[in-house]
Amino acid sequence: MNVKATIAVHGGAGSLGYFIDEGHRRKYLSGLVNAVNAGLEAAKRGNALDMVVEAVTVMEFDGSYDAGKGSVLNLYGEVEQDAGVMWGKDLSVGAVASVKHVVNTIRLARLVMEKTDHVLITGDGAEELAKQFGLWVPSTELINENKINRYKSLIRNLRSRYEKNTYLARKLGLLGTVGAVALDRDGNLAAATSTGGTILKWPGRVGDSPIPGAGYWAENDVCAVSATGIGEFIIRAMASFRVATLVRGGVRINDAVKQVVDYVTKLFGPGNIGLIAIDSSGNVASAFNTEAWVGHGAGRIWVGSLLPTCQVTHSHETTKCL
Ligand code: ASP
Repeated sequence: MNVKATIAVHGGAGSLGYFIDEGHRRKYLSGLVNAVNAGLEAAKRGNALDMVVEAVTVMEFDGSYDAGKGSVLNLYGEVEQDAGVMWGKDLSVGAVASVKHVVNTIRLARLVMEKTDHVLITGDGAEELAKQFGLWVPSTELINENKINRYKSLIRNLRSRYEKNTYLARKLGLLGTVGAVALDRDGNLAAATSTGGTILKWPGRVGDSPIPGAGYWAENDVCAVSATGIGEFIIRAMASFRVATLVRGGVRINDAVKQVVDYVTKLFGPGNIGLIAIDSSGNVASAFNTEAWVGHGAGRIWVGSLLPTCQVTHSHETTKCL
């Protein structure tokens, strides 16, 4: 088989309040382009798994997203990341949860897939694996002054005005998880998702991102999916697997992601999910029910052009932000 290698990435779904300033917004958008380029570069020598891992790695090191270096802080002011990767050829999965001392978390997830007999490793065990493979870094690599200041002000506000500021924490926190889906030249599909989780989450809380079927899914001849949003809803909807089930049943990828977003919205309300997906022919689709994409409260034109889903196809060498 010789198909066109294609990759799509996302940088989270949520509110524009996530951006600290214009510089942050620009860096965020250019990071998406860098990620797809890294994925396509990987396609020259590797497979779809290499493509999604390389793309997500770029976003983890970028610092603009809620993943890797940019991961938001939990209720205790610590970084706790989750990540998962899946190889559609044989349904191999590798995932880690509650990881505090790693920037390149998606690579650690891949190590779980390739170097252990397990699917998901959490906490200290995952940290130990990171040490063994040279991925462990001190927390100073992940926590900076900006994050501490933001954390302190959120905590202050949460104490004094709980309801309004829970909303605020949500508004500020829900964007920036990263994910990628890819199809390689041999027709293999892969998916990867990496996150610092939701801001001010309870320590030890695990979201959808490391859970196969929830935060990601890849299955050859069907599709690959990466999700972002509020993990508690995405897990309960098994959103990524649900997309795959629809596609397997003959629904087109575009309709499948839309149907699942509608399903989640109907069950849990709006503002909680974004999906990207690719099918076995390389068709890419995305659907969101969050503020940034439906333009709620922000009908400004740049909101429309912000959609952080970029697709680059190998033969055309062009980058298109959907
Ligand atoms: N889904 C992630 C979680 O709940 C967060 C996100 O996508 O922004 O941990």
